Amino acid sequence: MAAAVDPERSEWDVIVLGGAAAGENAAQYAAQFSGLESVIVEAELVGGECSYWACMPSKGLLRPVEVLNTARHLPGVAALVGDNGIDVDAVLDRRDAIVNNLSDDSQVKWALDTGIGVVRGYGRLTGERTVAVTKPDGSVRTITARHAVVVDTGSRASVPDIPGLRAAHPWISRDVTHLREVPRRVAVLGGGVVACEAATWLRGLGVEELSLVHRGSALLAKQEPFAGELVAAELGKSGVDLLLGRKVVAVRREKAAETGVGRVHGGPATLTLDDGTELTVDEIVVALGRVPASDDIGLPAVGLPDGGYLDVDDQQRVKGVPGEWLYAIGDVCGRALLTHMGKYQARIAGEVIASRANGGGASGGFAAELSTAQGHRAVPQVTFTDPEVASVGLTEHGAREAGIDVETVEYDMAALAGTYLLREEYTGRAKLVIDRASDTLVGATFVGSGVADLLHSATVAVVGRVPVAALWHAVPSYPTPSEIWLRLLETLNRQRRLGADA
Ligand SMILES: Cc1cc2nc3c(=O)[nH]c(=O)nc-3n(C[C@H](O)[C@H](O)[C@H](O)COP(=O)(O)OP(=O)(O)OC[C@H]3O[C@@H](n4cnc5c(N)ncnc54)[C@H](O)[C@@H]3O)c2cc1C
Repeated sequence: MAAAVDPERSEWDVIVLGGAAAGENAAQYAAQFSGLESVIVEAELVGGECSYWACMPSKGLLRPVEVLNTARHLPGVAALVGDNGIDVDAVLDRRDAIVNNLSDDSQVKWALDTGIGVVRGYGRLTGERTVAVTKPDGSVRTITARHAVVVDTGSRASVPDIPGLRAAHPWISRDVTHLREVPRRVAVLGGGVVACEAATWLRGLGVEELSLVHRGSALLAKQEPFAGELVAAELGKSGVDLLLGRKVVAVRREKAAETGVGRVHGGPATLTLDDGTELTVDEIVVALGRVPASDDIGLPAVGLPDGGYLDVDDQQRVKGVPGEWLYAIGDVCGRALLTHMGKYQARIAGEVIASRANGGGASGGFAAELSTAQGHRAVPQVTFTDPEVASVGLTEHGAREAGIDVETVEYDMAALAGTYLLREEYTGRAKLVIDRASDTLVGATFVGSGVADLLHSATVAVVGRVPVAALWHAVPSYPTPSEIWLRLLETLNRQRRLGADA
């Protein structure tokens, strides 16, 4: 346990503005071996959106839905489950336990035990290395950093300016992850990760009429096309009405009310779509993207425009601010809106700050090269739908757009002994994107039940630039879903020797 820190002091080596998981990592990595002292300034809960409102509660809601669905497709267990639905109260109780009933005591304890200070309040930059914190009692206190300030203020749900939408008090991500009651009829707006995951758990928890309205023609449009197609097919089978290629143009809700997070926000709402169709629901879920939380953190005081994503270099230093003291990590820098990527940026930024403060350059520490460039070539992401979508690096389209000459190989995940054992009616697909010049992977996508754990092998292959020929010597265990690697290599080999139609 580190020595106790005095939270009332006014000078620190490193100030982290926003105490999400990434901020905790930055504070820790800057201080742990350097002798520097860091402090976290947090306006709400130490641990941030992911711990309490996003990743953790959403995955807590999805897991029972997945287990029940798997059980329904597993002879010997299916009959035990029968037509029983989810025990909603038990699922919501477990969700509440997963988010520690919105108490950050354990994370604050971790910070203090690690020697990191915690200051409660809302911080704004007021000048070079200086932050004014408005404390919960309204008083303002100014703290300064000897070396660096790291911005980790995250993002907020975006509610677009559709006539009547904001006045209808729709649910945003915080409501749908913290639902306290299950509305009978719901419209989910959006076609990305949050929309697809939310539709999965809402239907699983018992929403009777669920429509998903998305202006694009495909779900999960940033992924390989088959990912969105397979997820759409399963959502459709589960009874979700997919209204693709449609937009909401107006919303009416006469009895909209602020009833609290996760409670139905008033009476029925009627949505008008661009083709004139009307849809009446008990709740609307807006999952239409995020905006950076940077519009009220004092950016003009350090010469930056208010709002927008903070543009950073590969050591996470904010561009356009002289003196190399301002860093940004996580959603607010807009590089990849994922917790694990924010934490990766934080580890590098923390090491860079420690190294520079002790007279070193931006090298040394735990990594040969203190740069986030490599990791950003291979961003891994799992969408916890049914089937799951796990991807890393570039899609075929993305690679071609980047000017890379690629070849691809695909295989049916259902045609493996390892997936046949998992459940019946397994659906899935896998694809590798290979840079012809170096014969290394630049991207991989796996779709299917239980594919999340396959992803890290692909991430290692992409980051490590492992030659395809070397992958033949990485023997997958039988019978597991990882046999997909062998099937993909065999198919690629056949394609190469006999032509693409082999
Ligand atoms: C429903 C949902 C599910 C998701 N699931 C996943 C998932 O499974 N895996 C994954 O990797 N990502 C997931 N994400 C994305 C993930 O939640 C975000 O990428 C992540 O939370 C961003 O972390 P961050 O460090 O940028 O800050 P945030 O988690 O956004 O936290 C920022 C913190 O800063 C504080 N703050 C803001 N302004 C100030 C200020 N001026 N002064 C003091 N404190 C301030 C806030 O109170 C907050 O605690 C999900 C997102 C959503 C919406």
